[in-house]
Amino acid sequence: MIRLTPFLLIFLALAALPSAAHALSSDTLRVEVPETAKKQGEFFSVRVSGERTLPSLWFMERTYTLFRQPDSSWRAMVPVENLTKPGGYALLVRTASGERKIPVLVKPNNRKIQYITLDPSKQGLKATETEKTRVKAALLTESPEKLYTGIFLRPSPGRTSSLFGLKRSYDGGPVESYHKGIDISAPEGTPVKSTAKGRVVLCGTVSEGFRVHGNTVVIDHGQGLTTIYMHLHTIAVRAGQLVERGEAIGTVGHTGISTAPHLHWGTYLYGTSVDPQLFEGKSF
Ligand SMILES: [Zn+2]
Repeated sequence: MIRLTPFLLIFLALAALPSAAHALSSDTLRVEVPETAKKQGEFFSVRVSGERTLPSLWFMERTYTLFRQPDSSWRAMVPVENLTKPGGYALLVRTASGERKIPVLVKPNNRKIQYITLDPSKQGLKATETEKTRVKAALLTESPEKLYTGIFLRPSPGRTSSLFGLKRSYDGGPVESYHKGIDISAPEGTPVKSTAKGRVVLCGTVSEGFRVHGNTVVIDHGQGLTTIYMHLHTIAVRAGQLVERGEAIGTVGHTGISTAPHLHWGTYLYGTSVDPQLFEGKSF
């Protein structure tokens, strides 16, 4: 004869009532978005708790990976692309036990539009396929381990000579591109430091075809966050190397398309550029 313990009996009773079990688990599902209004070039912080299996997350017809946190919740920092049309949107979270739709608002950041006339003779201004492909792939790196802790550092001393998000129209055409980082003006040879702990995923040089970016380093900080450092004079790291927050990765230069020595610093979430000023001096 089979003996049933009281615990097993309770389990069997719950299993026999699928609708009750469903209600139980959706009661524990929690989706938190502390700030539901963000500007272009910012990001929404999304946290899901009360779920054992990986939920799926959607924003503007794109899916974003949620990453497991030490408190066993799931988190994602969902970027709002700088050219997103301002207005109402929704974050959609789907789990085994239910679905949540969180209405959000995207506000304009009112960054200026720069009207640029291209000189047809300057074909050298075009990025090569090598740099485009390699940079894009590096910025899309999503590794599950969160390497960054503490506040994000400014990678170089010097004043900000150009803001993130300045919109660009070429030859009177529509605004299709923008400044994907900030420029920090500093003398050639000034040390450039990693903003946070991470793994070097790209070292590209002018001699390898980095004609526009110049000597470039990309660092993966984990959980969808990467940073880029461009126009470097020298590179002091290798691909695959783990770097600490504040570790020197190279020096300021003006390689690639750059008129004066400066550091172009970009921060990316899931391959989408967001404003580095959101990170500097902050922790997440
Ligand atoms: Zn720049």
